[in-house]
Amino acid sequence: MLWAYLREEEFDQVIEKSQGVCAMAVGCLEKHGQHLPVGTDILKTGKVLEMASEIEPVCIFPGFYLGDIQGLYQHKGSIVLSGSLLLSLMTELCDEIARNGFKKILLLNGHGGNTFFLNNFIRTTLHDKKDYVVYSYFDNLIHPSAMIKNIQEDQDDRFAYIQQEDLDLLNDFVTRKLKDGHGGFCETAGMLGTYPELVRLDKGEDESGQSTEKFDHLSKMGIYTAHHWNGDYPNSYAGDPPTQCNKRIARAYVQMSVDRIVNVIRTIKADQVSLAFNDEWNRLW
Ligand SMILES: [Zn+2]
Repeated sequence: MLWAYLREEEFDQVIEKSQGVCAMAVGCLEKHGQHLPVGTDILKTGKVLEMASEIEPVCIFPGFYLGDIQGLYQHKGSIVLSGSLLLSLMTELCDEIARNGFKKILLLNGHGGNTFFLNNFIRTTLHDKKDYVVYSYFDNLIHPSAMIKNIQEDQDDRFAYIQQEDLDLLNDFVTRKLKDGHGGFCETAGMLGTYPELVRLDKGEDESGQSTEKFDHLSKMGIYTAHHWNGDYPNSYAGDPPTQCNKRIARAYVQMSVDRIVNVIRTIKADQVSLAFNDEWNRLW
């Protein structure tokens, strides 16, 4: 149920079918090494959201491509908007989604850098009275150790296509304590399972995904500066090369991501507390 595909007369029916839930994937346009496209975060999260919505129906608002990538001016393809514009834009978009009748809005975030912006945005929704509630969920990476556990605990042969060599590869990743981060093994698996035509595994080692450790003296102390990401990962790529990733692992990764989002949508649909509390809170002032 894609918002943009609906005809006007179909909206009421979709609001009912989705139980008033409208979901928006939130990503960004940012370099992901040389092996993944700049739209990686919005593309993979948007696709798994669409797949999840086929299992648990939800209205899907057009994906938010313009997430928070402050300071990444040095890479081609990045679009950097100011924090204040992002907040205003998200505020007005959610107001409009709610005005159309969706009173539960799920922001499904596919980009780590957006967590600051979205947490801030959600807090600002308390500044004024709203007749809707915003939920955010981070479509975080599913580490190979979690993948192995899911595959081994699978009772219904849902991952029957996974071969021993795939498990060996995942186990090797875990036992060698390989690093996974931005543009790393998990994100590559997510893209390979959704947009394989956009992935260039052969370019996974063109640049380094290792940290320069420039800011370790601060981060190890729990001290944060805005330059941390740019300084430690100048290639906008963090992790060991994901060149061994394959299509079966990618398929399993996407399946697990979809399962997780289906659960999130179900939980939000069943949530009777938030809207009721919001009404109560609106009457307090
Ligand atoms: Zn990403």
